[in-house]
Amino acid sequence: MDAKKLEEIVGRGNRDGAQLFRDWFNSLTETANQGGQAAYVFVMGSLNEILKVFDLPVVFPEINSLQTAVRRVAHEFLGEAEDYGYSPDICGYVKADVAVQLRGGEHPMGKIPRPSIAVHTNACNTYVKWGEIWGRMHKIPVVVIDVPGTRVAGGQTFPGNTDFENDRRYVEVQLRELIKLCEQVTGKKFDIDKLRVTLAYANDISVGWKKVLDLNKNRPSPFSALTDGTIYLGVANGFRGTEEGSKYFKQLVEEMEYKVAHGIGTLTNERYRLLFVGVPCYPIFRRFNELFTDKEGTFINSTYLWFASGGANRGFEYDLERPIESLAEGTLISVRDAMDSMFYQDLALEAMIADYHVDGIVFHPIKSCRTVSTGLADSRRYLLGRHDIPSLFIESDMMDRRVVSEAQMKNRVDAFFEGLASRRRQAGVN
Ligand code: SF4
Repeated sequence: MDAKKLEEIVGRGNRDGAQLFRDWFNSLTETANQGGQAAYVFVMGSLNEILKVFDLPVVFPEINSLQTAVRRVAHEFLGEAEDYGYSPDICGYVKADVAVQLRGGEHPMGKIPRPSIAVHTNACNTYVKWGEIWGRMHKIPVVVIDVPGTRVAGGQTFPGNTDFENDRRYVEVQLRELIKLCEQVTGKKFDIDKLRVTLAYANDISVGWKKVLDLNKNRPSPFSALTDGTIYLGVANGFRGTEEGSKYFKQLVEEMEYKVAHGIGTLTNERYRLLFVGVPCYPIFRRFNELFTDKEGTFINSTYLWFASGGANRGFEYDLERPIESLAEGTLISVRDAMDSMFYQDLALEAMIADYHVDGIVFHPIKSCRTVSTGLADSRRYLLGRHDIPSLFIESDMMDRRVVSEAQMKNRVDAFFEGLASRRRQAGVN
């Protein structure tokens, strides 16, 4: 193996991803200091493709909030929002963001600009109420793109189907209204050729994201779906429709292919291949992962990497010949897929089980996010009845360290691995 190439390629996605994040927050800080415009958006259907045509910097409050947890200061932000009147029961992302707004944009990674417009889909019901908070606080237009969901479990319709065509037109009308509103907010004229450029970059990201996820079917798996995957996911969302994002994903595919070709795994001793279900435990992010890697377990895929990428896992590519129509089509297919990956996690998991050589499934329902956590116990029971794959069910939170008990978790995780090891012994496998 060429040592120089190895050093240059392996780990590049993590290094470059961290740098892109720093650059992104630095530019948001600059925008905030200069009083520039920004758009607040969400990961499930950000419509970055349109916002980039108007050069609007995008702010993902979900990402800002999780960063407060990873940096171990979320409790300060949650406490501030609760003192202000928000219930301990609601989504922790909302409360951390409310505190950021109350602090005038102050955030551990920089300064977050005020929004000039907020755009969200109906993928999560919390989005709708969250957008209303910004509408009240900042007196800005808040746009809800209503994406019709899948009517039947696992039964999404596709181009050529009458229902699909009706739904696509319904989304398209809303996108055209959003474009008009962006013209009013920014004072800039819509440029369809610029949209083609952002769509082409977004295509590179979707295609790259799907390839990267697929490459983790290999043994050993080249990346951890929990830790590395969260960095890649952040870039897929924050840099959607941009040249930097396109370049990053081309290079990431190259890195993963290189690792697969040379048998370089994320762990040197991969023994148990696991699926993760739900939202990560950000208050003890590194330690949570170590509970599994210490036992030679690694996460090879997760429903999180599907729904929190807004359905980019489908690898949908826009048709640049008919940009707005195709954007409506892609939004419908991808956001629906994201919703299905949350509401029918059992079906998403069955698709993963078929392809990824899975030894175990870890369910992580959390207090904050009912959208993702509701029904996980039923999903688990359904899967237990259909597949001979052990699973672990551990509850905590993605933001609130008050409900994260590392010692309790460790006991459960250790017992889970004892079970996995015993199955191997009984099967005569090392
Ligand atoms: S409830 Fe869940 S899906 Fe909705 S915004 Fe909060 S974390 Fe995201």
